[in-house]
Amino acid sequence: MRDPKIVEVSQEVYSSLHPRFKGDLLRPGESGYENARGIWNGMVARTPGLIARCADVADVRSAVRAGSEAGILTAIRCGGHSLAGFSTCDGGLVIDLSRMRQVTVDPERRRARFAGGCLLGSIDTATQKAGLVFPSGVVSHTGASGLVLGGGTGWLTRRFGLSCDNVEGFTLVTADGSVVRANLEENPDLLWALRGGGGNFGVVTEFEVKLHPLTSVVLAEGLCPEGDIRRLLENWRDFMADAPFDLKWNVDLRLAPDTERVPAELRGRPVAANWLLWTGDPDVAQPYFKPALSLCSSDSVSSKVVPFLDLQTMADSTFPHGRRYYTKSGYFPNLDDSTIDRMVEAVATIPSAETQIELAYLGGAAGQVAADETAFGDRSAPFILNLIGNWSEASADTAHISWVRGLFNQLRPAMKPGVYVNFMSGDEQDRVREAYHERWDRMVAVKSHYDPKNFFRLNQNVLPRKIDAKG
Ligand SMILES: Cc1cc2nc3c(=O)[nH]c(=O)nc-3n(C[C@H](O)[C@H](O)[C@H](O)COP(=O)(O)OP(=O)(O)OC[C@H]3O[C@@H](n4cnc5c(N)ncnc54)[C@H](O)[C@@H]3O)c2cc1C
Repeated sequence: MRDPKIVEVSQEVYSSLHPRFKGDLLRPGESGYENARGIWNGMVARTPGLIARCADVADVRSAVRAGSEAGILTAIRCGGHSLAGFSTCDGGLVIDLSRMRQVTVDPERRRARFAGGCLLGSIDTATQKAGLVFPSGVVSHTGASGLVLGGGTGWLTRRFGLSCDNVEGFTLVTADGSVVRANLEENPDLLWALRGGGGNFGVVTEFEVKLHPLTSVVLAEGLCPEGDIRRLLENWRDFMADAPFDLKWNVDLRLAPDTERVPAELRGRPVAANWLLWTGDPDVAQPYFKPALSLCSSDSVSSKVVPFLDLQTMADSTFPHGRRYYTKSGYFPNLDDSTIDRMVEAVATIPSAETQIELAYLGGAAGQVAADETAFGDRSAPFILNLIGNWSEASADTAHISWVRGLFNQLRPAMKPGVYVNFMSGDEQDRVREAYHERWDRMVAVKSHYDPKNFFRLNQNVLPRKIDAKG
């Protein structure tokens, strides 16, 4: 049964928006509502009182003003991929940007502007027409706004930096409905905060970004069998410390899929899946792949030049919409032997074939930006761990969540304080301060200025000063 008070407030927002709204206003029971309600993580099924799918910036301003005046709980949605489920809510308002997906590329200046509802795929397709790339994430159906605002890591992070490092300007609608710009000349403190500070400050309607020339990469893959995973992780740890920026080497610890592409003796067994990307001259790539591939089953090894758009879509089907996901993440300053041992032991107990221990090495161009230069977390701990529980049946929730939490708790003592906000789950609000640690006071100051009543609260939330003091 829906709370009559909440229904009344969402009705009030609807009535105030209806006369001038150009996009779609969707209420429970109306045509289109059910399709618009779902988000990527099937664990999060909520029923907003109103979904305001904006057609343009004027619609965004109207929706923010109406929501703010009514004091209704409001979620902002770009691609709906928030692992934590922040882009929806029960009974409240969802400001949905999925109709705002314009991308404009300036090939001469190597710059682009894209709207706040873009998915990564729409940006990649537009920029590749000019032979250029914007460094972002690894799954093309992810929303660009959420990813970029939290930081943004992907295949090109070591070569070109985090996504947020490549944003030169943001245009946003703040809590009072004003349109504000943030760049080096206008509101530089807000620019600083938006580079990693998530959705705390307003609805970003446009990003102005730097692009880089790139149309293809060399991609090598290989599966390392169970008995050699420990040695492989030691190789990875030692080799990446001095690896060139052109090399990205990700390791996923998981059960090998039961498919024809996988050598029969590895199917369903614990493996380390290696993904090696080389963005430099293809002729000199192979020696950099050797520390990984020399420990892989030779039948599982491949290496080829792939077009950038193929790279960006190859993981799309691994993380489909509607499955159940639960994550925990952190950074290691070093990967000591006992941490490696814990992870190797854990692969044998993984509760499903899709669940994995993802390891990435930051460093490169991203590691060269000083800790206080952007709101994004400290970049000095290069080993990023992301535990991803991925399953389909609600009856398996407890088993998967317990496995992820249990392993995280075992590994936590070796981690450095800090976490990438975009890899946090919905039950970790107590880690937000940890995510921003020495940058916390500056985040609070910017939040207090632009969103003093904490209208934008469905996010890895930084409380503004007065609210923080009260409670
Ligand atoms: C399949 C998958 C793959 C991923 N791969 C990567 C990866 O390679 N690299 C990486 O760094 N991360 C990755 N992530 C994490 C991803 O960065 C976050 O889940 C991010 O929030 C997704 O953005 P979204 O726009 O789809 O999110 P949404 O769910 O739409 O929004 C999440 C939050 O972002 C904020 N927000 C969204 N749009 C706006 C806006 N226009 N203005 C202001 N605030 C806004 C809001 O606070 C909102 O609650 C991945 C996630 C998934 C599910």
